[in-house]
Amino acid sequence: MSSYPNTQLFINGIWRDGSGAAIPVVNPATEKVIGHVAHAEIADLEAAADAAVAGFEIWRNTSAYDRAKVMRKAADLLRSRADMIAELMTLEQGKPLIQSKMEIMGAADVIDWFAGEAQRTYGQIIPARAANVTQMTIKVPVGPVAAFTPWNFPINQVVRKLSAALATGCSFIVKAPEETPASPAELIRAFADAGVPAGVVNLVFGVPSVVSEYLIAHPAIRKISFTGSTPVGKQLASLAGLHMKRATMELGGHAPVLIFNDADMEKAISLMSMHKSRNAGQVCVSPTRFLVQDGVADQFIEGFAKAQEALKVGNGMEAGTEMGPLANERRIPAIEGMLQDAVSLGAEVVTGGRRIGNEGYFFEPTVITNVPTNAKMMNDEPFGPVAIVNRFAEAEEAMAEANRLPFGLASYAFTGSSKTAQYLRGNIQAGMLTVNHLGLALPEVPFGGIQDSGYGTEGGSEAVDAYLDTRFVSQAD
Ligand code: NAD
Repeated sequence: MSSYPNTQLFINGIWRDGSGAAIPVVNPATEKVIGHVAHAEIADLEAAADAAVAGFEIWRNTSAYDRAKVMRKAADLLRSRADMIAELMTLEQGKPLIQSKMEIMGAADVIDWFAGEAQRTYGQIIPARAANVTQMTIKVPVGPVAAFTPWNFPINQVVRKLSAALATGCSFIVKAPEETPASPAELIRAFADAGVPAGVVNLVFGVPSVVSEYLIAHPAIRKISFTGSTPVGKQLASLAGLHMKRATMELGGHAPVLIFNDADMEKAISLMSMHKSRNAGQVCVSPTRFLVQDGVADQFIEGFAKAQEALKVGNGMEAGTEMGPLANERRIPAIEGMLQDAVSLGAEVVTGGRRIGNEGYFFEPTVITNVPTNAKMMNDEPFGPVAIVNRFAEAEEAMAEANRLPFGLASYAFTGSSKTAQYLRGNIQAGMLTVNHLGLALPEVPFGGIQDSGYGTEGGSEAVDAYLDTRFVSQAD
């Protein structure tokens, strides 16, 4: 088994400690401190910004073809180290080892996809009014990027931003999560070992607000990308606006799942049960508000509760574990508070609802029904293993509930009717809809939200555009 390391900053091609006191890292399955992470102060951030400026000059002058070669090498290194990195991720984040490994292998695919896509960032020749004039657009990298990523997918949240930035010729500083620092540091190491020049990729940790306030305001930084909660996203988007920086915001969600009388119930129950338990529900696209049509509601509640009860909850390092602990202590009171509030308003807990044991942040997979719309959990993201199941009679009623919240990230539906599916895709207020299967988050498809879930996409060709400026050139003989 890998021993858990202390994690350093990576600035200008050098691994080093920060100027601040190192921050402890806790294993959420045991509550034990397993290591420390370096803490960057302003002087370190200044060094990272200077490095990113120098790195940008090198990298923007490297061809897309050569950038892609280095990126593909990094992807291969990541694959070859996946078993070791997966152990670090599970120790610091809690998710089952198999989910950690899938995250790392998926990250390697993301790198490969972006490496290829950035070789296809075409400009245009625009017909000119005069014969001796050529009008053209050239796609140029936006410049040094500052990214801020959370602890739920320590590598996946970094890799989409990093890959899009590097593929297009931008340099990059990421403030990765202090709670789960070692696995994203291994992602950065794969790029360093693959030959990314010094200064092109930089890794920092610290006090999140100190780092973001410094880097977003820094004149060298040209683009911001943040994944995290909506309240923090709004703060960072305001700051980005104040300094006229481009921004991508991937924020919270409250995904509705619409299940109709004509759905394949076996499929709906098994896919959604597995998806709900993924990462103990700490996923921005986690299915949360299950809206089930009257004719199949009892069947769904019974089958879904049974599937949730059968999940093996435990230490992610143990074979057979299907759901690990919550990633940090503060999620426990947050979820307990939401459950108490819902029950006090008349909701019924079908299964679960309690913390498991008194060591590690384990929580029972929970199904709760008849939850009134004024309950906190119907309005704020539970971000844990809690499935809310409410009933509906007509499609319009379900649509009104699905669209009631200001969030609009993922949505799900199960129906045997193509007419219902057409109604859903025409009316759902969400950045993503997946019908009768799980089809989200592949590198080649858009990933992002609308309204309070943020703006911009982190997948597909539009994700590359977010790191490019269009330069228009008009040239006469
Ligand atoms: P939080 O709002 O305190 O932090 C969320 C993330 O933002 C963390 O990674 C944190 O380090 C970072 N952050 C906080 N303040 C920041 C700042 N001023 N500048 C830069 N980064 C900052 O919440 P939390 O307790 O860590 O997580 C709980 C909530 O966060 C959840 O309810 C969920 O809504 C949201 N969240 C969303 C995602 C996602 O994938 N969209 C991931 C993790 C957390």
